[in-house]
Amino acid sequence: MTYTPAGNRYDTMTYRRAGRSGLRLPVISLGLWHNFGDGRPLDRQRDIVRRAFDLGVTHFDLANNYGPPPGSAERNFGRVLHADLAKHRDELVISTKAGYHMWDGPYGEWGSRKYLVSSLDQSLRRMGLDYVDIFYHHRPDPDTPLEETMAALDAVVRAGKALYVGISNYTAEQTARAAAILRELGTPLLIHQPSYSILNRWIERDNLLDTLEQAGAGCIAYSPLQQGLLTDRYLSGVPADSRVRTSVFLDESDLDNATMGRIHSLNDIARRRGQSLAQMALAWALRDERMTSLIIGASSVAQLENNIAGTGNLVLTAEELGEIDATVLD
Ligand code: NDP
Repeated sequence: MTYTPAGNRYDTMTYRRAGRSGLRLPVISLGLWHNFGDGRPLDRQRDIVRRAFDLGVTHFDLANNYGPPPGSAERNFGRVLHADLAKHRDELVISTKAGYHMWDGPYGEWGSRKYLVSSLDQSLRRMGLDYVDIFYHHRPDPDTPLEETMAALDAVVRAGKALYVGISNYTAEQTARAAAILRELGTPLLIHQPSYSILNRWIERDNLLDTLEQAGAGCIAYSPLQQGLLTDRYLSGVPADSRVRTSVFLDESDLDNATMGRIHSLNDIARRRGQSLAQMALAWALRDERMTSLIIGASSVAQLENNIAGTGNLVLTAEELGEIDATVLD
């Protein structure tokens, strides 16, 4: 059926500025790492993307290797994009990345200029796009000079293949160096994409947000629901269609007794707030205004709606924050 986007799509979503750039992103962005590979019905993928756009989600996050198989999420997203959202390209911020293994041989992963430029060209072909809005280096490369990797990011912007650049999974120290090189080249670092959730706080120990603030860059956290652990998904068992059962990236051993005890306690706090656990986990990860956006995953429209509905109540009291800490940091 022909899709007409909701006329009120910008009425309720909150948008935050990425660092000191001109770009604002929705506080909830949609990631296509899981749920958009060839094994998932295209109709469901389309429904999730359409509903996200209707609810003010302007930002869709991809990478060369998302699927499975690798590349299929970009291809599937491209199909939906061209069928439904082609007229709205200028309302969308589409990102992709390169860094992990994508093809065999010495040029199919890590951080050389050779790999990054070829990979972005492939991504653009898969999505049927002339440019992406943000191109990321997906993970630090210990063997390639950072100057080469950053020069490749600068080059794709100058070639018109990306509007902004980002880095992902870099430590604060690596981030400061990358930002300085990019500044020198004249293509400022837009944003960093780290993992972050109530159960994964490495960026706090690393002072990453302070480093990004100094660099004028934003932060967009991935897996804020800890791949589904910080939701009601596993409160009473392991559903057959859950990530634990359908992906190699989450394992039943992640649901040990200590973790499940914490998740039940967190769920009690969320219920007292009148929220789902997922909604509280997102509010928690957004509590510092320097966190520009969170990239969530959703395997259904209902999950997406639940997560976005939570943005109506992002305020956590000092008492609630203390309770959350006491539950997790024992
Ligand atoms: P989340 O932590 O948001 O986990 C998403 C999963 O949680 C869903 O697939 C679903 O699991 C479950 N879920 C989500 N909402 C609800 C809800 N309301 N109720 C119940 N269950 C819910 O994020 P992801 O791990 O999926 O990562 C998000 C995005 O971040 C990726 O798509 C990607 O774009 C990016 N990313 C980037 C990385 C990087 O290295 N830069 C690495 C990893 C991710 P189920 O499928 O079981 O239903």
